[in-house]
Amino acid sequence: MTIQDTRSAASVDRRLKLIATGSSAGSSCSGELTSGPWEFDAPTIAHGYGPGASQADQIPAAAPRQGQIPAEYTNAPDEELHERIRAAKEELGERAVILGHFYQRDEIIQHADFVGDSFQLANAAKTRPEAEAIVFCGVHFMAETADLLSTPEQASILPNLAAGCSMADMADLDSVTECWEQLEEVYGTEPDADGRAPIIPVTYMNSSAALKGFVGEHGGIVCTSSNASAVLDWAFERGQRVLFFPDQHLGRNTGKAAGVPLEQMPMWNPNRPLGGNTEQQLEEAKILLWHGFCSVHKRFSVEQIDQARAEHPDVHVIVHPESPMPVVDAADSAGSTDFIVKAIEAAPAGSTFAIGTEINLVQRLAAEHPEHTIFCLDPVICPCSTMYRIHPAYLAWVLEELVAGNVVNQISVPDSVADPARTALERMLSVAPQQGAKKK
Ligand code: SF4
Repeated sequence: MTIQDTRSAASVDRRLKLIATGSSAGSSCSGELTSGPWEFDAPTIAHGYGPGASQADQIPAAAPRQGQIPAEYTNAPDEELHERIRAAKEELGERAVILGHFYQRDEIIQHADFVGDSFQLANAAKTRPEAEAIVFCGVHFMAETADLLSTPEQASILPNLAAGCSMADMADLDSVTECWEQLEEVYGTEPDADGRAPIIPVTYMNSSAALKGFVGEHGGIVCTSSNASAVLDWAFERGQRVLFFPDQHLGRNTGKAAGVPLEQMPMWNPNRPLGGNTEQQLEEAKILLWHGFCSVHKRFSVEQIDQARAEHPDVHVIVHPESPMPVVDAADSAGSTDFIVKAIEAAPAGSTFAIGTEINLVQRLAAEHPEHTIFCLDPVICPCSTMYRIHPAYLAWVLEELVAGNVVNQISVPDSVADPARTALERMLSVAPQQGAKKK
């Protein structure tokens, strides 16, 4: 199969169903992707991320689970669900705003008021202060961020509580606190002659609110994939070193672009003393990289880029910086989802792009830009497991509950965490203001 085979249908869901019935060529990473997510939310099923890119990742025992929703939703045909969503949305009017992440399935995106990346969407919700409910069709940390940035009267709702993020789950408050205590023993806590702290914590937006609160309390900052370079500069003005979590690849790619040698970016493995490093390695380090990764972006390889170039000599390869460093180095350009969207919008008609990011966004871009040839670097259809847990049945359920006056699946960040987490987000905004999400 060639890589452009993945382009032959606009919707990933429809494409998966066609592959599963043998009506279409192509392959997916799991035949279970066509099952309803409630089958993986059943209490009898082993706790996991579900089919898709993160299916082999180990899920924390404490990760939220979604209870079963009424059978009237899980048994309903797709068209009935869409009709019920439209009707509930109309009835709610300005009382609810629906946010759809770029990686969300098209069957959800069609109902979204705004589409964007996680931080763009949380900010978009701020433009709708009259909305009592922010229905975040994304993953858990995104609904937390929306709660942090919304008013106390607004409820942030995640339609399926099992929609976590395997990367965010790779760093938890206990293991980061344990790491920090070990680093304080090695580095001490006193600033150097220039007033720079021994180490500054930087967390990627894709992390729990608890970790955003941790960095806020320890002089640190949040970054996105759009502003990681500017945030790193900010951190090095205030610290001698950086502890970057949870995504090692974004940290390494950003550090390398800033000129930090690889040998000064050791990995911190939370399961080993001193993260698996010697004291000397820690003394010489400039950026300590947490042992985390995104299983969607980890799938991209230099071999896929070579194949794309062999089949399309004029191809422009763009990858997301959560991809491994050799992939970013081999690509023509690398950047956030917003960067990828804008690069395609700005290209002359007839351009060819091979994209290294989540398949739902790539398929949507291909459908929206028939003037270009756009395909995913990975020939195997393998969506983000947890984004995929948001099915129209769950969206219909939370909206109809709102119509009935019930708030279900609310995500609330306690004040003790929210205050320092907001501090860390405000520091980020002071360094690099964000652009808005796209209104539909
Ligand atoms: S694409 Fe990767 S980082 Fe984004 S939600 Fe999915 S697992 Fe998390």
